[in-house]
Amino acid sequence: MSKIWLNEQLMEQQQATVQIEDRGFQFGDGIYEVIKVYNGNLFTAEQHIDRFYRCADELKIVIPYTKDKMHQMIYELVEENELGTGHVYMQITRGVAPRTHYFPGNNPQATFVAYTTEGARPVNNLKNGVKTIFQDDIRWLRCDIKSLNLLGAVLAKQTAHEQGCYEAVLHRDEIVTEGSSSNVFGIKEGVLYTHPINNYILNGITRMVMLECCREIGLPVVEEAMTKTQFKSMDELFLTSTTSEVTPIVQIDEVVVGEGHPGEWTRKIQQAFEAKLPNMLVI
Ligand code: PMP
Repeated sequence: MSKIWLNEQLMEQQQATVQIEDRGFQFGDGIYEVIKVYNGNLFTAEQHIDRFYRCADELKIVIPYTKDKMHQMIYELVEENELGTGHVYMQITRGVAPRTHYFPGNNPQATFVAYTTEGARPVNNLKNGVKTIFQDDIRWLRCDIKSLNLLGAVLAKQTAHEQGCYEAVLHRDEIVTEGSSSNVFGIKEGVLYTHPINNYILNGITRMVMLECCREIGLPVVEEAMTKTQFKSMDELFLTSTTSEVTPIVQIDEVVVGEGHPGEWTRKIQQAFEAKLPNMLVI
């Protein structure tokens, strides 16, 4: 039995219900976060909670708790469920109100939900890398907001999945933006390239931690978008996300990357990243 937060009530998951006029259910009018837990320890929770509040602010959704209280609630949930390694999913919507596109006038109470899921680290992918395909980035123009509206990502990921690939690398015209649920990176002649932070991508927490790793290992970083052609000709490619950590990309469409296995720099970044994980054995 697993507990969840529904607003300020800690309850059994089976007892929780969603109202049909919840704006998250009808409009995707809300935001979410995923926080990784290693051996019972929350990883970069503060950064995730900060982003949660920033995104809520962008959508003018009022979170009725302080950041400290939120942190405490998430910590309590992990303890209560005795979560080892896995993640916390949390979301907040604008709440329940008669259906109109514009914001409801009576300022409904936002609906907050958080639950935990057990899940081992993706050891096989981390060691061997994954295959990817290019897909058109058909998402909206505020990809910096971690919104519940995920159809553009869902469709791209489904196409990748149907083709036996782990991730869809998205591009607007010729410009590579990010993965459907990850940030993407290329390394060419000892320099790391990635899309700059703006409205076209989500500022990944794992991206930030990984860039710190690059500084530590002396890998120069250039935050400049790559074209599809440049992306395909990189010596090494990888992606980052909370659940995928630093996952090497060994194929994009029909192109095999480098030697077809994770590159030297990617390995070094992975090692520097692992050194930051709480109580983890290096794989
Ligand atoms: N971009 C998109 C579109 C994502 O969905 C995610 C995963 N939430 C990321 C990047 C990576 O973000 P993070 O490292 O914070 O998980």
